[in-house]
Amino acid sequence: MNTTKTDDVIDDAKKEDIKDFWKKVLGILETELNPTAYNTWVRSITPENLTKNSVDLTVPMEYNVKQLEKYRSLILDAIERVGKNKFKIQFLVKKVEGDNVAELDEEKDLGPLFESKKQLKADSKRVERAGLNPRFTFENFIMGNSNQLAYAIAQAISENPGESYNPFFLYSGVGLGKTHLTQAIGNKILGNSPKTNVVYTTGESFMNELIEAIQSGKGRGKYTSNEFRNKFRKADVLLIDDIQFIIGRESTQLEFFHTFNALYMSGKQIVLTSDRPPKDFTNLEKRITSRFGSGIIADIQYPDTDLRTAILRTKRDINRDEVSDEVIDYIAQYVSTNIRELEGAYLQVLTTSRASGRSPNMDLVESILGKNMKTQRKKALTLNQILKEVCRYYAVKSVDVKGKRRTKNIVIPRQVAMFLMRELTEEPLMSIGQFLGGRDHTTVMHGIRKVENELVEMTKTRQDVDNVRRMI
Ligand code: ADP
Ligand code: MG
Repeated sequence: MNTTKTDDVIDDAKKEDIKDFWKKVLGILETELNPTAYNTWVRSITPENLTKNSVDLTVPMEYNVKQLEKYRSLILDAIERVGKNKFKIQFLVKKVEGDNVAELDEEKDLGPLFESKKQLKADSKRVERAGLNPRFTFENFIMGNSNQLAYAIAQAISENPGESYNPFFLYSGVGLGKTHLTQAIGNKILGNSPKTNVVYTTGESFMNELIEAIQSGKGRGKYTSNEFRNKFRKADVLLIDDIQFIIGRESTQLEFFHTFNALYMSGKQIVLTSDRPPKDFTNLEKRITSRFGSGIIADIQYPDTDLRTAILRTKRDINRDEVSDEVIDYIAQYVSTNIRELEGAYLQVLTTSRASGRSPNMDLVESILGKNMKTQRKKALTLNQILKEVCRYYAVKSVDVKGKRRTKNIVIPRQVAMFLMRELTEEPLMSIGQFLGGRDHTTVMHGIRKVENELVEMTKTRQDVDNVRRMI
């Protein structure tokens, strides 16, 4: 083997050399490891102190070391192949410094860091203005079998927005990571090029802002339709989360279509998320759905136990919580619905055990999770809350819904309200009738039947009811 040349280069390695060296190692490992291991553990490594026969592999947490030990021989082999020499490697924990935005406010030490501190501050303003939450990053998104494709596409987009995957349509059930990934795209793009005009919004805000803009066009308020248009049509990257909210609302849908077209035509990146695939939007005009198909569509599936465990363990390590593997594994086994509930259960276990001044043991965990399942049932919803959302969704006034008018645009929301009140509360039909303008219980029953029948026959009704239910 001809090693002398390589030795010289690697000796006294400068930053660039390490980078280059590590890139080659990653190239090998990416093909040899399963994607979860690669993305979650190997990518957390920062190599340091590279010499011709040794390198330190630093990672942010002790837990990474434990995981990486499993792949030690594979990693070593890749390093030796690239370095063309026998190597010694060690994994070292090194806390990431300066990643705490809160610290930036203390401007006591204004040494050479001053510039970059100011820079960072501006960036966090940009993040906020874009509608993003800095908490959602690729770094703290754990990849597994269920979200692998979505994760890969999201990363590719964040590297080259508007280029390869456009539009990106991401769908899944609730709590599985759509918002996290979408926001991670925005955060990453802003991190790479802070001047990019990233706009994150939800289908619901899009709808509300449009309504506000239209209303103020009639003489009230200050937000004009023009400003609305500018905000969205001047975006370089438009991220709309939970797009299902705008479906079936003619004017919102049309505005969305025009926004979409304007951006798409000028090669701007569009990312949309939803609780269902585009083909299920039977109500959405063909010309819109066919556009989705010209980009890429991916879903996130339910997480398997491995992923659930990895998420909780990472969370524990980041927060330095004192929770045993046994407890984590139990929660991960037990809560299989979605990641939001998984995180919720973990938090509940933590807070309850903290209140009792002990670290969580299995008995405590079992009793909490058992109770949780029971209390998770419906929270007490009031008829008023339901009526409010129904009115907001159909853009009608509650006095009209309670009143005598029998025009279709009032009757439908009235019946949907009856149906949802019955479904979501324990109120007897009589009280529902009373609440809705003093109607008797047979009228309420009739309304509920009507909606029930339509739910089977008409997709429009089904989508409307789904949407309102979600708003509630
Ligand atoms: P959705 O938008 O699909 O309803 P979210 O993106 O809000 O779901 O995710 C719910 C919670 O679960 C968030 O706190 C998010 O950070 C977390 N989460 C989801 N997927 C992952 C993942 N793969 N790794 C780490 N956290 C995750
Ligand atoms: Mg979401």
